[in-house]
Amino acid sequence: MNRLPLLFVALVACKSAPAPEPLPVTDPTGGPISPAMPAEPPADVVAERRHDAISRTELNRWAVRENLPLYWTIDADKDGNLDPDEVASLLFYPSSRTPASTWVMGGRFTPALEAAYEQIIAASKAPGDLLTEEGKRRELVGKDLDQGRATLVHSDLSAIPVADRQFVGHMMTVATLVDQLYELQNGATALSAQLPKDSASRSLFRRNRGPKCVAPATEKDPLCSAIPGAPKPVFDLYPAELQKQDKFCASIEKRKDAKALLSPFTVVRGQGDQLTAVPYTEAYKDAMTAIANELTAAADVIKDPAEQPLVTYLRAAAASFASNNWEPADEAWAKMTVDNSKWYVRIAPDEVYWEPCSSKAGLHLTFARINQGSRAWQAKLVPVQQEMEAEIAKAAGKPYTARTVTFHLPDFIDIVVNAGDDRDALGATIGQSLPNWGPVANEGRGRTVAMVNLYGDPDSMAARRSQAESMLDAKSLENYTGMTEPGLLSTILHEAAHNLGPAHEYMVGGKKAGAVFGGPMASVLEELKAQTAALFLLEVLRKKGVISDALATQSFTDSIVWALGHISQGMYTGSGERKTYSNLAAIQLGFLLDKGALTWDLNATAGNGTDKGALVIHPDKVVPAVNEMMKVVAGIKARGDKKAADALAKKYVDGPRVPHKIISERFQRFPKASFVYSVRL
Ligand SMILES: [Zn+2]
Repeated sequence: MNRLPLLFVALVACKSAPAPEPLPVTDPTGGPISPAMPAEPPADVVAERRHDAISRTELNRWAVRENLPLYWTIDADKDGNLDPDEVASLLFYPSSRTPASTWVMGGRFTPALEAAYEQIIAASKAPGDLLTEEGKRRELVGKDLDQGRATLVHSDLSAIPVADRQFVGHMMTVATLVDQLYELQNGATALSAQLPKDSASRSLFRRNRGPKCVAPATEKDPLCSAIPGAPKPVFDLYPAELQKQDKFCASIEKRKDAKALLSPFTVVRGQGDQLTAVPYTEAYKDAMTAIANELTAAADVIKDPAEQPLVTYLRAAAASFASNNWEPADEAWAKMTVDNSKWYVRIAPDEVYWEPCSSKAGLHLTFARINQGSRAWQAKLVPVQQEMEAEIAKAAGKPYTARTVTFHLPDFIDIVVNAGDDRDALGATIGQSLPNWGPVANEGRGRTVAMVNLYGDPDSMAARRSQAESMLDAKSLENYTGMTEPGLLSTILHEAAHNLGPAHEYMVGGKKAGAVFGGPMASVLEELKAQTAALFLLEVLRKKGVISDALATQSFTDSIVWALGHISQGMYTGSGERKTYSNLAAIQLGFLLDKGALTWDLNATAGNGTDKGALVIHPDKVVPAVNEMMKVVAGIKARGDKKAADALAKKYVDGPRVPHKIISERFQRFPKASFVYSVRL
């Protein structure tokens, strides 16, 4: 319920290139974490050969199509030639962590690299086939893949102590185990035997976590699938028979035992009307035991007494993977801070967006390093957190009353790997507040994080600026910096606001939001509240002198670009579910258009000087419009006003007020970031 994906820019990670050392740890597929290196490069390596037949952008695009874990990081010397120190070997591909994906040894390219390079060049020259059904399917598969731009998240951990490296090795194994269970639950594994042999289909299946196309221009095309015939994945969470019904979620929601059946850490088993909720730990006993064992092994190798809180959490999490009681793990997790660990680990079933009923918690591993950059913002915002709650409570009105809030402001983390529900085909979560349930959540003792090493790469920043320039007029663009801080501030406030006003545990008429609004709409409203607060609190903070006038305006502008990005993705998934962030973004934009804070000017020229018709921001009208929006949105949550919520969605999500088509056309000229990962150990 509490995560903010996509399209913010953030800080840049660093990297360097000392020689890796072999690790004694293996992953479940048998491959070593870091392949053993021979002392000398093989004699058949020809170091002088040039690799300039294809540009960096094209090489990375075709590597994805060929399902090769190869990535040209940056053309550092700008010679258009791939050099050994410009290559990364990626994780989460079928050949990851095997000699077949060892691209460089002793500073030279390996035969595996040469073969991969040839394969890429050949694929880039191969003619397409648009005459057969199979040819058309493959064309669409390529198109879906191409709407993502492989974007590297690289972590250089080569300088950390040996015990820490062993810990990282175990966490990599946890990542693989989490992926396996996640793909069993989402129905991908059951379909994997039907995958055809071609690399692009296999790459799509790998990247999209199943056969479906997910990119905006292809997700609704019935022919677009990694598997001929486009079989629909059957989630392992509910009986297959039940999923054949249209609106099967609604049929569960109507039952007397809906609460038990839709509880987050269970799957539904049974036939006909005879349905029961079975705990994850029973339904997936072997897989969960394997994860528990690996977490224990990770805890066992940590020798640094300063990492005791991490050890305590890993052991508590291991116990939860046996008991299905996640509260003790949440308690241990909540005690971890930027001050008492170098690492950020969250391993649990948490968010519910991934499955059709938005009810079952998706298993994920977020594995990251703590970034100390959050301290400055914490020092600024903690003293005013109670005032922020008071302002939102005032906007919400009765029956909501301000609470004492004790949340933690976001800790900044640098992602190492995302696994399970965390690793999206396109984009990534950039902020998250957890847990969603239990005493730690209810008592405001959860943790909030901002993933600050995503979207800060030069490719992502350039693409986002071009998108902004295609929609906003030149004057409005003056406040678009494209830099880290305005977007980061928005993320911080968004995540903080999940703990403000009517939140997850709030009840009206004895009911929580899910029961009042239905799961998907409740998710939209919670995110809408958080993102509206991210705009609303700017003025609260500016007036108090916590942030400058310029930063307030820049953050608002950045949030508009963020909203446009989500609107451009379309309002519904290929299978008809609401896209939470797209929906909230459309509601925001439509509301601001109606209040005159924004206008869609058909005669204005966009900042790029070519697109006719542009969005104009009217700074004098922004604050009153945002204040009103906060009142409307928080009020809907406070009163449990389902009618008003549905009306907002009808008007702006489904209605003609927002220029959906133009936004999609302009933003979709640029591929979205599709994150790929490499770790140097
Ligand atoms: Zn959120």
